[in-house]
Amino acid sequence: MVARVTLEIALRKEFDYLIPPELAGRIEVGSRVKVPFGPRQVMGCVTALNETSPHANLKPIAKVIGAQSLVTPKILALARWIADYYCCAPETALKSVLPEAVRKEAEGWRERLFVRFTSFVGELPKLTKRQQEILKIVEERRELPLQELLALSETTADTVRRLEDKGLVVIALQVSERDPYAREDVLPTQPLPLNAEQSTALTQILAVMDSPSPTAGSATFLLHGVTGSGKTEVYLQAIAHALAQGKGAIVLVPEIALTPQTVERFKARFSHGPLKTIVAVLHSHLSAGERHDEWHKIRQGRARIVIGARSAIFAPVEPLGLIIVDEEHENSYKQEESPRYHARDVAVVRGRMENAIVVLGSATPSLESYHNAKKGKYALIEMPSRADDKKMPLVRVVDMREEGHKEKGPPIFAQRLKDAITTRLERKEQTILFLNRRGFATSLQCPKCGYVAECPNCSVSLTYHRREQRLCCHICGHATAAPSICPNGECRNAAIRFAGTGTEKVEDVLVKLFPKANVRRMDSDALKRKEDYRTILGDFRRGKIDILVGTQMIAKGLHFPNVTLVGIIHADLSLHQADFRAAERTFQLITQVAGRAGRGDVEGEVIVQTFTPFHSAIQFARRHDFVGFYDEEVGFRAQLHYPPLGRVALLTLKGRNDEKVAFSAEHLRKELEKALKDWKDLVIAGPAPAPLARAETFYRHQLMLRTGRMSQLSRELAKLMAVFKLPEEVMLTVDIDPVNLS
Ligand code: ADP
Ligand code: ZN
Repeated sequence: MVARVTLEIALRKEFDYLIPPELAGRIEVGSRVKVPFGPRQVMGCVTALNETSPHANLKPIAKVIGAQSLVTPKILALARWIADYYCCAPETALKSVLPEAVRKEAEGWRERLFVRFTSFVGELPKLTKRQQEILKIVEERRELPLQELLALSETTADTVRRLEDKGLVVIALQVSERDPYAREDVLPTQPLPLNAEQSTALTQILAVMDSPSPTAGSATFLLHGVTGSGKTEVYLQAIAHALAQGKGAIVLVPEIALTPQTVERFKARFSHGPLKTIVAVLHSHLSAGERHDEWHKIRQGRARIVIGARSAIFAPVEPLGLIIVDEEHENSYKQEESPRYHARDVAVVRGRMENAIVVLGSATPSLESYHNAKKGKYALIEMPSRADDKKMPLVRVVDMREEGHKEKGPPIFAQRLKDAITTRLERKEQTILFLNRRGFATSLQCPKCGYVAECPNCSVSLTYHRREQRLCCHICGHATAAPSICPNGECRNAAIRFAGTGTEKVEDVLVKLFPKANVRRMDSDALKRKEDYRTILGDFRRGKIDILVGTQMIAKGLHFPNVTLVGIIHADLSLHQADFRAAERTFQLITQVAGRAGRGDVEGEVIVQTFTPFHSAIQFARRHDFVGFYDEEVGFRAQLHYPPLGRVALLTLKGRNDEKVAFSAEHLRKELEKALKDWKDLVIAGPAPAPLARAETFYRHQLMLRTGRMSQLSRELAKLMAVFKLPEEVMLTVDIDPVNLS
């Protein structure tokens, strides 16, 4: 027999290898193998089995990794689709469907010494009192890790060995699973009685799950439910239904490491009762060993539910009944390196391939998904009110241009926001303040000579971090000590200015304005260790913090009943990006942040500070009017064939020589025009310098392609890439359905 293998070293080719007799029966499609390649051995994945090969002198496979094939045929098919659609090499796509820890098998299972009680027959040998005590512990527990026994009985391994010599216990290596959530106790929960909107939603989903052959297309639902409408409860009950049918479920959540609450809710529901199952968790904050163990629990069928970030969409759940993509509009579902897949779109494709139901949920659906729902491609379910009838928060827009007139320049806090915070402090209620920019000041300028501190590697100015007294680049990480005088040798002005506001400054000013309040900041600078996030949120929940300041980390998913005020410091920030989705992002952000307010008994208030109070993104968000925003925005997008009415491919060229990159980009455009001359609905924009014209010392130029037929365009692009010649020092990336246009 001959196995066809893709190798991990990207060669865009597959190779045939002989299956040696000793490995026969252990190799199937999807097996991970080690094979000779030139002078070394490399890892690969079996993609097909054949009787013979057109090639002669085949080398044999050296080794199989793991007892079970790691990539199931279904996941293999999904990887093929990713390679085709996202225009990348098959081996790159294959690599991304397995966690590194599983692929390399370096971690393996953790083995630990366990002490086991033996049912000793005959007369008990003579034991000291100490030995008797230790034996009693082992007898009660039947089996426990040696380390734990030593700690419990305050003894040494030698003493335990003596018990083993007498045949009373056995000490042996045993697999001990790593459980990232082992330290947590979950209190079991029962399904909640659903309100009318929830039960209508659930009924619709279950109807399709129960139909004997869910037809393609109607497998996907878009659940548009306002923040706090109780979507999670609908997910939980739909999953219970899948489990009862003997099927498993995948739940994708963005930034899962940041929302331990979500994981707890799922674990709590399925920790007991007839549907009891392990809930596996997959995300980047786990150790490699933890990820290895979680993945294998799924592969072995012991964990029927998987919660995870983007890559959990590849979890080998079999059979798969349901995929949930929560907060489907989130950008973090898009992978920003090759393969540049969007987990939501992969979920829809996987659902279709495996006949699984897909539920996309959001309070602010992406325009793409809502458009699909309106076209009838997805079934739309609306949940317009909050569960238990809590009111939506009142959103007030404050015109910061007016505030500027009163003082020298616009302050960080409008009077109205200051008053609102004061009231909350008096009433012992909590406040969340949001600003999507970390650091203290966004630039250092010299008012005398005009010097601005810029990154030597990127086309951005450096951010001042006051606590560390450093200037940092948020693109490449470059950092230098902050100067105290103008660094321009001829100027040396002592009165340099720090302009622009970041979260560090907001925190600083708050502490001065409200000296009695407990203020905490939560952004990636403030979180140094893995546990910091939980600690801060724990303190917030227990009321130890009055005001929480943070970046987008605090915008989503948090549920704190005592938060009655949310302030958005600078709502325009996201509006000023060179991106056709700027308005959509702003609308989403305001709505999501506002959703953190008023989740308890007291009605919530949201104060949005802005310099463009009449912008439609802000006004529609103020009125909680998603459909109004959608209708207007789709009109703008239609004029330029932007998504959701067209599709985009972004080609970025980069290199250290700006002219060469620009020249290559021009050349690429000509080749594209030639190759695609018969395409009627194609728009080619550019080349032009990218919005981020230089990053990490590379100059960047872009071309944007827009069309209605992306799968076909991907195929054409792949053909062109295969023959297109670039100067050696210029690199090209192709991003299909890009989310980040910078
Ligand atoms: P969403 O995911 O839509 O933002 P959640 O599922 O977090 O909303 O629900 C918001 C709150 O409402 C939670 O505290 C949840 O326990 C509660 N809740 C959800 N469904 C019900 C229900 N049927 N009855 C009572 N409370 C509910
Ligand atoms: Zn930089």
